Amino acid sequence: MKIGIVGCGVAGSILGALLARRSDVQVVCYERAQPGEHAEAGTGLNVGPNAMKALANVAPDLEAAVRAASWRWSRWQVQRVDGAPVFDFPLSELADRPGIRIRWSELYRVLRAPLEGIARFGHAVQACGVEPGRPDRRYIESRTPHGTVEREGGIDLLVAGDGRYSVLRPQFAGAWTTRHVGVTIYRLLVPDTSGGLIDDYAWWFNGAKRLLAFRVPPGHVYIAGSFPIEPGADVPADQRTPEALRRHYWPDEGEPCAAVRWMAEQLAAHHEQIHWARLQETPLAFRDPSGQVLFLGDAAHGMVPTLGQGATQAVEDACVAAHLIGRALDAHDGRPFSAADVADLTRRIEAARAPRVQWVMDFSLQCTAAMLDGADGPAEMLRLREPAHRDAFRRLWSDVRLDAA
Ligand SMILES: Cc1cc2nc3c(=O)[nH]c(=O)nc-3n(C[C@H](O)[C@H](O)[C@H](O)COP(=O)(O)OP(=O)(O)OC[C@H]3O[C@@H](n4cnc5c(N)ncnc54)[C@H](O)[C@@H]3O)c2cc1C
Repeated sequence: MKIGIVGCGVAGSILGALLARRSDVQVVCYERAQPGEHAEAGTGLNVGPNAMKALANVAPDLEAAVRAASWRWSRWQVQRVDGAPVFDFPLSELADRPGIRIRWSELYRVLRAPLEGIARFGHAVQACGVEPGRPDRRYIESRTPHGTVEREGGIDLLVAGDGRYSVLRPQFAGAWTTRHVGVTIYRLLVPDTSGGLIDDYAWWFNGAKRLLAFRVPPGHVYIAGSFPIEPGADVPADQRTPEALRRHYWPDEGEPCAAVRWMAEQLAAHHEQIHWARLQETPLAFRDPSGQVLFLGDAAHGMVPTLGQGATQAVEDACVAAHLIGRALDAHDGRPFSAADVADLTRRIEAARAPRVQWVMDFSLQCTAAMLDGADGPAEMLRLREPAHRDAFRRLWSDVRLDAA
């Protein structure tokens, strides 16, 4: 079987690395970035315990490399902006291992390292399609770093790991309508000058306006702020100024706690480096109607980042896809794959992933209630610590399967 992977971000890198370990499959991987050049390099992320569990199941060496470049995510603290505690949630209560905190640049470096000499870095895919006269085969056309165009044909399975703004997905599975939630999220990474005010994963609320922060190696703090906006609208310019950023998190009465004061100073001082985004969802789709094109990660499911599950689910996707592709290759024992075999394989991957991912998307959206216009953030957050939600968090962080249930 010949597999073409477009995009070596989170999902594409892991799948490419795992398939490249086998001798019975030919893999061609494309990534428009050069090694060492990392989109989103200026920010950080938290990855859930569930991604680390999936990775440990299929590639313990890769899981160990990711852990070595990161720090543990073990607690989730929520406070009001004046420092009054809302909850302190040790993940060990409902997860069987910690998650991680890491810089994007480090995550990409570790995940892409096994693809050196395998993936075509600096190659931007500019066209894909069905090979003329061979409806069961796809081709990929890319622009090389030298500006020439290269074409690769004879592909049995085309994998789109090209992210949130996937070009392959609308081409093969049609356009979608983005669902806007009415909240902006902005991100900043700064050197840690907080003197110990920020450490593990924590949130601070001023009504529905939220600050999130944690330390990442080697000595930085990742800050992500959010506040309600009109759904689908741009973030108003007067809400982004250094003064507005301070005001969002200043309590009406009294003073903010020292951590919030420090973050407000950082946001004001570095406001030109802030990355702005909006909370939005892309409806789920794992395959095209022919079953010869597989979508993974954000190309399959853009979700709200409230629970840090976007990259986390991209890891799960890649681990499940690698496991099921490997199983199909074992069963074929060298026999060629027909178009029907490939369609059956992508159907199995969809069956293993779609129900869980849809549930994670829905739960992430449900947990966004605290950040919506008019919400009493702390009161909404306290609801998440009620017994009714224990099973949901256990399911989220621990219930990882490589096969359909
Ligand atoms: C504000 C915000 C905060 C977030 N925080 C978190 C968090 O804390 N934890 C978490 O788990 N998730 C988080 N996410 C989600 C996370 O960013 C994504 O879910 C994750 O990156 C998806 O991985 P992916 O592999 O699908 O795509 P990506 O990692 O985006 O990779 C796509 C790759 O495809 C490449 N590519 C695209 N087009 C082409 C082309 N034509 N040719 C060649 N290459 C191409 C790109 O260069 C890129 O390397 C957050 C998202 C947002 C917006």
